[in-house]
Amino acid sequence: QRNEYKAQYNILDAAASYYQQQLKTHQHRDQAVSYLKSRGLTGKIAHIFGIGYAPPGWDNLLKVLGTTPQEQQLLETSGMLIRHEEKDSLYDRFRERIMFPIRDMRGRVIAFGGRVLGDDKPKYLNSPETDTFHKSRELYGLYEARKLSAKLERIIIVEGYMDVISLAQFGITYAVATLGTATTAQHLERLFKTVPEIIFCFDGDNAGRKAAERALEAALPIIKDGLQARFLFLPEGEDPDTLIRQESKEGFEKRLNEAPQLSDFFFRSLSEEVDMTSMDGRARFSNQALPLIQQMKTSLLQQMMLEKICEVTGLTLEQINSTINLAQSTPS
Ligand code: ATP
Ligand code: MN
Ligand code: MN
Ligand code: MN
Repeated sequence: QRNEYKAQYNILDAAASYYQQQLKTHQHRDQAVSYLKSRGLTGKIAHIFGIGYAPPGWDNLLKVLGTTPQEQQLLETSGMLIRHEEKDSLYDRFRERIMFPIRDMRGRVIAFGGRVLGDDKPKYLNSPETDTFHKSRELYGLYEARKLSAKLERIIIVEGYMDVISLAQFGITYAVATLGTATTAQHLERLFKTVPEIIFCFDGDNAGRKAAERALEAALPIIKDGLQARFLFLPEGEDPDTLIRQESKEGFEKRLNEAPQLSDFFFRSLSEEVDMTSMDGRARFSNQALPLIQQMKTSLLQQMMLEKICEVTGLTLEQINSTINLAQSTPS
């Protein structure tokens, strides 16, 4: 079984080299290179992230790396080839796209993301889940962040490949991206093993704000004293890539340093949804907040958040505790 995976890692590595090679030599490479330039990327940063080019055509990778049935099988199980059921033939998953290799913590290529060069849909295509690629665990850029920073003190979680790469190009070498999924507890546990501070920085749009709310819910059960989660909200319409280009490292780091703490975001987002001047509103607020706070590890932060609820609602800790206990003893 070990060997089976080893062969998979090897063929994914060969695919990454192939795509990088195509970016240097393919007859249509100019299109890919000018696209990357239009996004402001330097050759150096493209090299660090192993960016490549999947040329147009249905069987480029198949022909180069799938010369035996065994290799074809490996390429299929690793998600690089798709089987056409009716014709019972294989074809390249990634065609005419900028290729971003996704590496695991040890630097092994485990999957790819591919972006169209223009405005076609879907804009991004990712490898499917495989034996070696689990989206709920892996984070794009974590390997590179560890390599680029002497000592990681904090990590930013962003939405996209280009956000990670742009930030790195501008000197913020500690960003990672989830891979088209929501932030999971597994992601956070992995990151908190590496750093004591995580800053969420999603796009300044509705999807980004929703992602932040979900990230908050994922972070609550994991956070403990000594760990910090913060939430940086970007101006409407911006994402980390567009903003770092305008504000450079200093401007962006200033925002990072001023980003609200988890507890600030928690109370702000919950109280925005209700009318805190009315009794009903404050009751609704408490009813939404308490189950979430209950999920937290026993900690000073948890205690302080309970006290804050007392402060804004006028409830006593005893009243809150009896409500929580009632909720716990109600059969579901
Ligand atoms: P770009 O700057 O290259 O236009 P982006 O990263 O800003 O792209 P968003 O639309 O903000 O793109 O999406 C954020 C991230 O979500 C993407 O980087 C990608 O990882 C993922 N994503 C977006 N669209 C898709 C899609 N159609 N399929 C899978 N993943 C996607
Ligand atoms: Mn977006
Ligand atoms: Mn973008
Ligand atoms: Mn974006």
